[in-house]
Amino acid sequence: MDRASGERGYCRAGPHPAIATAIPHFGEEPPLVTAGGAGTIFFSRCNLRCVYCQNHQISQGDLGNEIVPEDLADKMLELQELECANIEPVSPSHHLPGLLESLANAVEKGLRLPVVYNTNGYENPETLDLLEGIVDVYVPDLKYSSPDAASRYSDARDYVSVAREAVLKMHAQVGNLVVDIHGGAVRGLIVRHLVLPEGNAGTRDTLLWIKDNLPATVTISLMAQYSPLHRSREFPPLDRAVTAAEYEEAVDLAWDLGFENVFVQDVESQTAGIPDFGSSRPFNWD
Ligand code: SF4
Repeated sequence: MDRASGERGYCRAGPHPAIATAIPHFGEEPPLVTAGGAGTIFFSRCNLRCVYCQNHQISQGDLGNEIVPEDLADKMLELQELECANIEPVSPSHHLPGLLESLANAVEKGLRLPVVYNTNGYENPETLDLLEGIVDVYVPDLKYSSPDAASRYSDARDYVSVAREAVLKMHAQVGNLVVDIHGGAVRGLIVRHLVLPEGNAGTRDTLLWIKDNLPATVTISLMAQYSPLHRSREFPPLDRAVTAAEYEEAVDLAWDLGFENVFVQDVESQTAGIPDFGSSRPFNWD
């Protein structure tokens, strides 16, 4: 696919990065939000089509603007000036050339923050090779454990094998999570898993896979924040939120399997982090 000559692929991205917003974010896991919050940069478009995407306005809609790498580098420096703890590109994989150019430019101009790569996990190995030595902290999803669920809900039947291979490669690059004296992430891996209604995320099999393939000390973020957004009402039982009982079962399983570092969420706060990218302040916690 030659995007520079105007072609568009599955993600519909153009030749330059496109972003919806670049803001301090306080809704991420605690090691990502020390100091002035995570320095999030929300990229437009996505290489998946999750039917429940809470960022659907930018991932599958048209919100966001193209930005040349020099200007994106300046955005990173603005986040650093705001005392953000890191630079966290969110869903950037389909904009990798522009992201790498922006990071290089920002470092030349004085960027010193850790780079946190927030990804749905659907990454090919060659992409991760390009990121080695540049990304300090990987925050990938492991969304499913069955090809049927991955196909039905995210339009990617091969998601499970691709994401699992990617997570292993990320861990080989950066290892377990390391934090500084303030508790801020400086290096390592946080694996995210969003619990879906009626076990549709394959939580048990995902946790068993992690146990068999990564150390018990790996950091896991078990997320309770599923809300029936976007097209989820067409896909019952995804047309309802996760119950407290469903989420507690997932948390209990993680403890029973012996994981030592698990971030958990309050089920009551399920709607707190739902953004509106049509607003000048997309998140409602400030
Ligand atoms: S991978 Fe994330 S950003 Fe992309 S469509 Fe799925 S939920 Fe949305």
